[in-house]
Amino acid sequence: MIEQLLKKEKEAEVLKFYNSLTRTIEEFKPINSPSVGMYSCGPTVYGYAHIGHLRRYVGDDIIKRVLALDGFQVKHVMNITDVGHLTSDADEGEDKMEKGAKLLGKSVWEVAKFFEEQFFISNDALNIKRADIVCRATEHIDAQIDLIKKLEARGFTYQSEQGIYFDISKFANYTKLSGQNLDDLKTAVREDVVSDPAKKHPADFALWIFTVGRFANHTMRWVSPWGEGFPGWHIECSAMSMKYLGETFDIHTGGIDHIPTHHTNEIAQSEAATGKPFANYFIHHEFLMVDGKKMSKSLGNLYTIDDIKNHEINPLALRYLYLTTHYRDPLNFTWESLKASETALSKLYKIASVTKETGEETRNTLSDEKLTKIDQFRSDFSSFLNDDFNTPKALAIVWKALKSNIPHSDKYDLLMYFDEILGLCINANLNVGKKEVTVNTQKLLEERENFRKEGNFEAADKIRDQLIKMGYTLVDDKV
Ligand code: AMP
Ligand code: ZN
Repeated sequence: MIEQLLKKEKEAEVLKFYNSLTRTIEEFKPINSPSVGMYSCGPTVYGYAHIGHLRRYVGDDIIKRVLALDGFQVKHVMNITDVGHLTSDADEGEDKMEKGAKLLGKSVWEVAKFFEEQFFISNDALNIKRADIVCRATEHIDAQIDLIKKLEARGFTYQSEQGIYFDISKFANYTKLSGQNLDDLKTAVREDVVSDPAKKHPADFALWIFTVGRFANHTMRWVSPWGEGFPGWHIECSAMSMKYLGETFDIHTGGIDHIPTHHTNEIAQSEAATGKPFANYFIHHEFLMVDGKKMSKSLGNLYTIDDIKNHEINPLALRYLYLTTHYRDPLNFTWESLKASETALSKLYKIASVTKETGEETRNTLSDEKLTKIDQFRSDFSSFLNDDFNTPKALAIVWKALKSNIPHSDKYDLLMYFDEILGLCINANLNVGKKEVTVNTQKLLEERENFRKEGNFEAADKIRDQLIKMGYTLVDDKV
């Protein structure tokens, strides 16, 4: 019996998730268990983080919390792209940071610092745990230059008047992550804006860009063995992830937009430089949409945490909303759905508050049947999360547990356990919206209890409806 139980526990611990590299759900096997190295491509700090960006970072936060629940020790590294990169991923267009600076009348350094701070303020509002190492591209220029030197020594680069490029023809299976056909890639890039005519293949990407020609006035610039300039966007992630996590590490995350270019290029340049696999698992988050379109700065359909606050909505309701959809499904944002999430969240807070207060009397009064139920709720919750981080199904278990007939003390304990992953700050919001129980309310509660005891549920329900109209939430032992 004990062996069976242990086996069951072991099975529940297996974490499986979708690996974009292999396009299959795989069992997670870290290189050096229980240690796990995880790298997240961080924000480009030239504007406010919008709630589309933030969906992604809450997604990463859930991954970290599930890994911790499973007993892994995660070392999480996230970069800050403060060098600025071009408006297109393909080394073309204007530099985003310079553009932001011009608009705000600030220096590029001030812009980067300001928006990095704002990014973390938004993260804090959503209770996103900070990465163990937050690394700025501008503070790792040497590591990037060293990596380019390695690539040069191995024959993967060529130089034009405008920059140093990675030669994708030298790297076998360049499109392994996206599964794209290289010829399709050619057309897609060719239709884009101006590019360096000296590029051998349109998908060759810049490792280093010289401050000449259209970049002559670029503010951020560094000396390099090839001439003054600044790094291409992709190289910072390879240099910093490998610096902090080793040449091969466990998990790399990003948004789905990173698949065709950014992560494809990260893999190519990292593996070309080391001859080893880069990251073993890639996780990509789907987008937050508005009216069927990606929420983005360029479409002008974005909202920030401040917009949420201006609507007097608790930002954690947004976190709840994100959790209602699986991270690999698009989520369409509407104010109605956010308000519905806020209502659900307030209900959670109220139930937690009531079950905490009234729960003490029911402590240690568990029947075997109830004990089994509680174990089942716990294991179902973690099983769903261990099954490709299925937060909507895990949330459904939360409500199932709260509606069950287990004692209040156990409902409260379960909520605390669930919140380790959900991160909805339940314990800190126990008394939010809590109404004082007046003498009149107490009388109504007693009357209702008597009707329930007598089996007169019609009369009891009338009082329940009256209390709900008065703004109370009722939590019965058996709902
Ligand atoms: P950026 O600062 O533009 O590099 O974006 C930072 C991260 O946010 C990237 O991983 C993007 O994939 C992600 N992202 C951008 N827009 C959205 C969106 N509408 N929904 C979800 N993630 C997004
Ligand atoms: Zn990156």
